[in-house]
Amino acid sequence: MTDPKTTGEHPAGPPPSLVARSPFELRVNLGVRVTEAEVKAALATGDMGFLHSFTTGSAVDGPGVRVVAWTAGCHWRCVFCHNPDTWKMTNGIPVTVAKAKEELAKYRPGLKKMSGGFTLSGGEALLQDRFAVNLFAAAKAMGIHTALDTNGHLGDRLSDDDLAMVDLVLLDLKAWDPERHRRLTGMENGPTLEFARRLAARQKPVWVRFVLVPGWTDDRDDIGKIAEFAAGLGNVDRVDVLPFHQMGRFKWKELGLEYKLEDVAPPPAEAVERAVAAFRSAGLKAY
Ligand code: SF4
Repeated sequence: MTDPKTTGEHPAGPPPSLVARSPFELRVNLGVRVTEAEVKAALATGDMGFLHSFTTGSAVDGPGVRVVAWTAGCHWRCVFCHNPDTWKMTNGIPVTVAKAKEELAKYRPGLKKMSGGFTLSGGEALLQDRFAVNLFAAAKAMGIHTALDTNGHLGDRLSDDDLAMVDLVLLDLKAWDPERHRRLTGMENGPTLEFARRLAARQKPVWVRFVLVPGWTDDRDDIGKIAEFAAGLGNVDRVDVLPFHQMGRFKWKELGLEYKLEDVAPPPAEAVERAVAAFRSAGLKAY
């Protein structure tokens, strides 16, 4: 029998396709026979990781056209998360670094032509920090631009040498007020802000992402403080204000999770413009 640990094949039958139509595709039971022990061993070496999917053709996850690998596993519980099916690492498809390299190599010529690159997103990619670094090193060896999309909480798992493999960090800043942040994500924002400062000290290019959720993250004072902080860093090339949407609602239902934003509508255009204006008035490029 072929060993799924070395091929990345699915142990319970025909492997699910690694390439998803979009990150909004609900993908569950992908790694039904992946044990906790296998997860632990993979995390230590980084030779294998757990992916929700690969998507291609993204124009919003870094410069140019991108191939995005979506990792499985996230320790945050954002109330607006549109990918709760990425929360469990054991729900991911086990993929070896060799297999991921093969996938990347397929897209390399196209990515070069479209000034794009490879983005690692999730879930939270740094839960699999060794795998992440191995993937970034492989991409860099192929001359592919690399971006890490992260909530920043586990940034201290990356050494300075690891960070050298990352050309751009897409950093999610979700709320400024600590209590608001805890309500929104279930976690503290201190480590994220610390990581942001470290990236600034290293002059690592950052794109900030801010999700605008009516009633949760639209407090003007809070947005103003995030803008002030981001502008003060000196390495933030752009800010993307991402309006909350309900495209992930069905996933919460399918997974039997309590969804607190059932009745929250996407923010009106004026509210999005106001948030963008707050970032711009702090001196940042915001969209
Ligand atoms: S950090 Fe991202 S993946 Fe994790 S819960 Fe929040 S939105 Fe979802």
